[in-house]
Amino acid sequence: MKYLTEYRNAGVVHEYLDELHRTTTRPWTIMEICGGQTHSLVKNGILDLLPKVITMVHGPGCPVCVTPLGIINEAIYLAENEGGILCSFGDMLRVPGSKKSLLEAKAKGADVRILYSPLEAVKLAQEHPERQVVFFAVGFETTAPANALSVVQAKLLGVKNYSILASHVLVPPAMEAILSDPENVIDAFLAAGHVCTIMGTEEYFPVVEKYQVPIVITGFEPVDLLQGILMAVRQLEKGEAKLENQYARVVQREGNLLAQQTIGKVFEVADRDWRGIGTIPMSGYEVNESYAEFDARRRFNLHLQAVAENKECIAGTIMKGLQKPFDCPNFGTKCTPEHPLGAPMVSSEGACAAYFHFARAAAT
Ligand code: SF4
Repeated sequence: MKYLTEYRNAGVVHEYLDELHRTTTRPWTIMEICGGQTHSLVKNGILDLLPKVITMVHGPGCPVCVTPLGIINEAIYLAENEGGILCSFGDMLRVPGSKKSLLEAKAKGADVRILYSPLEAVKLAQEHPERQVVFFAVGFETTAPANALSVVQAKLLGVKNYSILASHVLVPPAMEAILSDPENVIDAFLAAGHVCTIMGTEEYFPVVEKYQVPIVITGFEPVDLLQGILMAVRQLEKGEAKLENQYARVVQREGNLLAQQTIGKVFEVADRDWRGIGTIPMSGYEVNESYAEFDARRRFNLHLQAVAENKECIAGTIMKGLQKPFDCPNFGTKCTPEHPLGAPMVSSEGACAAYFHFARAAAT
């Protein structure tokens, strides 16, 4: 299969590993931003094959993990109290809110549905004009175009009973928040290839400039990740800080202009709370004035409440690269995928779930 099997080729993987071992002379800490990259690194056993002095830490690029408790509580409120239909991607259902998860609300009778696209939710709204249909619009820049498009389409079709509960987050401000933290340990980043497919590469130049940190836009297959790590290490060993694009077969400098226009039509950039990390200025999307009628917060007069996190969960320090899942005293004991204390144990992109499913055997 073109562009897939060749990026999983064991011979090529070993060539990159050999080169990495020859190139690395000092300890470096590199953060892969995206949870999909984390899962690929752990699932393919790459962390164990790297030079011992390279520490990979796992960033906040798991949308389910960074959705704050207050927004999950809002979704549960809408599912239970407005007599409507709350639609969501499947991962969100099992994430614990303050008192329960959406799955528990569903078990108690709330109409919560798992969909694969927000456009399905618009169709659902057309089929049930007597009910309010809300799509829980969670994600990074990657899911924002489809969520925005659903709103544009609902407006075009005159669908009055559709709205979105937006919880969108943006990668570059999160990188800046991590780099600005006095405890920062990150020497280089692997940026998320799919985010850059939408947004392009321009917005990362200021981060490289300001913090003198190498950023390599990287894909998700084993060869992608090893090539991305090697490109970052080569820069670090030479004392350079540049933006490089390992994922050039997909990512173009300008990104997907149509997707960006759709985002710009519906959303505006605003401050956003990140679960476990706190408020990051101008790090999320909210529905703008032109499409205010499709904003569930305005339609149902919701006022986001700040809610204290579960103190037993160290997800925030993991997502800042300061700790790893195995450092959590609850990992695999009080916190498992069946009974999660925190979102990273639930999500298919969460670092704790990756370690639970793929790294425990190696560690024991
Ligand atoms: S193992 Fe569970 S409690 Fe610990 S950091 Fe991960 S999600 Fe939170």
